[in-house]
Amino acid sequence: MVKQMRNFQVVETGHVTPNMFRVRFGGPEASEFPEGFAGGYLKLRIPLEGDAVAVRTYTIRHQDRDGIDVDFALHGDKDAAGLATRWALDAQPGMSLEAGGPGQPKPLPAADGHYVIAGDMTALPAISVNIEALGPGASGDVFLEIQHEDDIQDLAVPPNLRLHWLVNPVPGSRPELLADAVRGLDWPAELTYAWVATEFEAMRNLRTYLRGECGLGPDQLYISSYWKRGLVEDDHRTVKSADAQAESAA
Ligand SMILES: Cc1cc2nc3c(=O)[nH]c(=O)nc-3n(C[C@H](O)[C@H](O)[C@H](O)COP(=O)(O)OP(=O)(O)OC[C@H]3O[C@@H](n4cnc5c(N)ncnc54)[C@H](O)[C@@H]3O)c2cc1C
Repeated sequence: MVKQMRNFQVVETGHVTPNMFRVRFGGPEASEFPEGFAGGYLKLRIPLEGDAVAVRTYTIRHQDRDGIDVDFALHGDKDAAGLATRWALDAQPGMSLEAGGPGQPKPLPAADGHYVIAGDMTALPAISVNIEALGPGASGDVFLEIQHEDDIQDLAVPPNLRLHWLVNPVPGSRPELLADAVRGLDWPAELTYAWVATEFEAMRNLRTYLRGECGLGPDQLYISSYWKRGLVEDDHRTVKSADAQAESAA
């Protein structure tokens, strides 16, 4: 897949829940976007002064022939929020934005498997896409860290897949929250796969348990940090790649 730069137009914006804000992108280049990339990601090029841009990574929450929806997890007051978040909140229909991609989705391996899934609001778009692709025979537990109980989304889930919504008003402030909840499960002998994406320190706690203590290898585990508290995305990328090197050397 050749990843190319495209120019999208903002079609519509609005809150999904109090702390989740959706931007719908359309326009000719969105209509030509390759199919089948819901759950994959875009590299949004947020305009700065002059020709400068800040690159920010966001999941494709929905795609159809007319456009693409991207959901932005809000964090803090608008003035203190990151560049992408502020851009989204200010976006108006007709504005344009360049985006690179698509990056590959990270789906669950079988429609009827047994899963342990954990993530915060930055991973809720990808987790929602993955859950929507499951069949009625899928089972397991999904742990979702949200900022407020009003951020609970009405996801259509198979009957034996349990959703656990964990409220933490300050994202990144409780890196043990998801790991403690996952540790509280009776470990499922029938596990097909565990899927995790969240803040860096929270990811490390989950990795200690899932990889270190439960012994899950790459055939049974996708685990990724999507951001790091206190770091802008560029610095998070540096820390993430050093961490990945240290892990593979260990
Ligand atoms: C593959 C992938 C897919 C992703 N998909 C999504 C998605 O669909 N929706 C989404 O919202 N995010 C998603 N993210 C995370 C997103 O890229 C980061 O949160 C990014 O830092 C946000 O950019 P920003 O400009 O708002 O903040 P930055 O300018 O990068 O950071 C400014 C400050 O805000 C803090 N910060 C950043 N994100 C958060 C947060 N969520 N909560 C609290 N503080 C934060 C930073 O630590 C920093 O202190 C994804 C990341 C990856 C790697």
